[in-house]
Amino acid sequence: MAEQRGTVGGPVLTEWFAKADLHTLDVYESLGGYSALRKVVTTMTAQQVIDEVKISGLRGRGGADFPTAMKWSFVPKDHPGPKYIVVNADESEPGSAKDRYLMENSPHALIEGAAIASFAIGGHQAWIYIRGEYDLPYEMLRDAIAEAHAKGYLGDHPFGADHALDVRLYRGHGAYICGEETALLESLEGKRAQPRSRPPFPAVKGAWGLPTAVNNVETLSTVPWIIRHGGAEYASRGTEKAKGTRMVTVSGDVKKPGNYEIEIGVTYRDIIEGLAGGMLPGRKLKVFWPGGSSAKVLPASMLDTSTDLDGLKALGTMGGSGGIIVMDDSHCVVKAAARLLRFYAFESCGKCTPCRVGGNWAVRTYDRIMANEGSQLELGILERVSDGLQNGRCLCGLGDAAGWVIESTMRHFHDEYEDHCLRHTCNVGRALAHA
Ligand code: SF4
Repeated sequence: MAEQRGTVGGPVLTEWFAKADLHTLDVYESLGGYSALRKVVTTMTAQQVIDEVKISGLRGRGGADFPTAMKWSFVPKDHPGPKYIVVNADESEPGSAKDRYLMENSPHALIEGAAIASFAIGGHQAWIYIRGEYDLPYEMLRDAIAEAHAKGYLGDHPFGADHALDVRLYRGHGAYICGEETALLESLEGKRAQPRSRPPFPAVKGAWGLPTAVNNVETLSTVPWIIRHGGAEYASRGTEKAKGTRMVTVSGDVKKPGNYEIEIGVTYRDIIEGLAGGMLPGRKLKVFWPGGSSAKVLPASMLDTSTDLDGLKALGTMGGSGGIIVMDDSHCVVKAAARLLRFYAFESCGKCTPCRVGGNWAVRTYDRIMANEGSQLELGILERVSDGLQNGRCLCGLGDAAGWVIESTMRHFHDEYEDHCLRHTCNVGRALAHA
């Protein structure tokens, strides 16, 4: 997979990625790394840090798109005991690999960002919960944390300041649901990873029942740049409401799949036909997922859609985790949806009935369709199951995501569903070969 910069404006996250050995503290520091943490702990108050990030307009890049400064400000300032930053590094969304890319290239940026965030909420401890399968990023972060401790940038009195900041690494347990923030907290506490009911939200009752802000890898890796350059400079990138840059992972039937940093507001055509080199020879775009498998699909006719996060929401989809999955016209959309539903049903934690039962109903229905046994009955079942999974009927977003796959593929590609269920054909011929 190609890994390169592709920012339309100036890069933020990948600014130093061309430098060899950026993962080492020596190189990172020689470029200006840790100057933001030094500035924060020696010259700023916690509120000034929050204010600067608020000016930047930075929003969470894990999929929720929630304003980062607001999330930090929800953590009670007067809480007398420990408060935590928890870094969600459990990147498991199909189609997304940008957090791994950031951690492998610049682990110190995440560590510095996590330490700054801890300072901003008045805490002393950040936990990085990293996906269990991410061996190399785990080792790089482990070594980078040790380097920062050895240099005195973490621990008691970083840069001589009257404060203590620590970052610890915790290896995840290999389930997709561990990426859901409250399931992640359960897992961090050593329990079975199942989402919690909210309220209370983690800002009030998070890890070990204590106030906690959960932030994504990309979000926190952006923070040192914002402190170094100022929130206004970051906000000068992007659109009026969706500021800055973000990472996207482009996968599928393109010439140059890979991780790219984009300025928010460029179109999916800019990314797929520009940065990713366009479709493979002789192929035409059929459909793309604009923000990981959990985002509603968009057909080729919507390629000029902007990556503006609010615009995507208005279309009923989202930028999500930044995973752009591209499929050409040689693929069967019904079969792709069937595979994704199998994934979501397998990864369901089973805590709530619509997801536990509905996901399996969908799998069994898709199985009949792919076995060429579909009919009007199967079309109706999929519509009802999709409705039952969405709109707050499930405890967490996994259920919604499963419903969105069904609903959006049926909406944009109803002809293909009818081909399978009513005419018993497949417009690319692949699905029936499996019947
Ligand atoms: Fe678990 Fe699915 Fe309910 Fe989420 S929606 S809590 S994954 S059963």
